[in-house]
Amino acid sequence: MGVSMYDDLYDVIVIGAGAAGLTAATMLGRSMRSTLVISQPRRRNSPASSVNNVPYADGAAPADIYRKMEQDAGRYGVTLLWDEVTSVRAYEDHVVVEGGANPGLRCRRLLLATGPRRRPAGLAAGRCLGQIGLRLPLLPHVRT
Ligand SMILES: Cc1cc2nc3c(=O)[nH]c(=O)nc-3n(C[C@H](O)[C@H](O)[C@H](O)COP(=O)(O)OP(=O)(O)OC[C@H]3O[C@@H](n4cnc5c(N)ncnc54)[C@H](O)[C@@H]3O)c2cc1C
Repeated sequence: MGVSMYDDLYDVIVIGAGAAGLTAATMLGRSMRSTLVISQPRRRNSPASSVNNVPYADGAAPADIYRKMEQDAGRYGVTLLWDEVTSVRAYEDHVVVEGGANPGLRCRRLLLATGPRRRPAGLAAGRCLGQIGLRLPLLPHVRT
């Protein structure tokens, strides 16, 4: 996993690799934003044997869907780091994200996709750190 402390300044760090976080990360990667997803592996529906109401994936196992979503994000240059984020510190022009395995990773924008209840220290409910600008429609993009 090519993640180095303080050396890199990501455009966006996404906290949470559930359906929301991986979808956002894939869009960000397609939009040429350097994107790091930090997440613990257990998603909200991880205990379920299969999913319903998910287009093209009805009856599939959650783990299989997430594996495919992780691969799709990776195709667009998104890096995935399995870790718990324990705190977030906002500065004028960047945000430092800290976790068990990471003393500090930096980003310009932070996207919180931790699910309905969990929230790292330093982030009050509803607080937004920066804005992510995407120019739509997305240009076709394939990283080599
Ligand atoms: C048993 C069950 C079955 C379900 N079945 C279906 C279904 O069949 N069809 C359907 O449409 N919906 C279903 N749902 C609902 C669906 O699972 C949720 O709507 C969806 O998972 C929410 O996605 P999310 O990305 O917002 O959050 P999550 O899936 O919860 O993902 C959030 C991620 O963030 C991580 N995270 C949280 N805090 C931190 C932190 N501090 N540091 C690092 N990582 C962190 C979590 O570990 C997780 O990986 C089901 C839910 C449950 C509980």
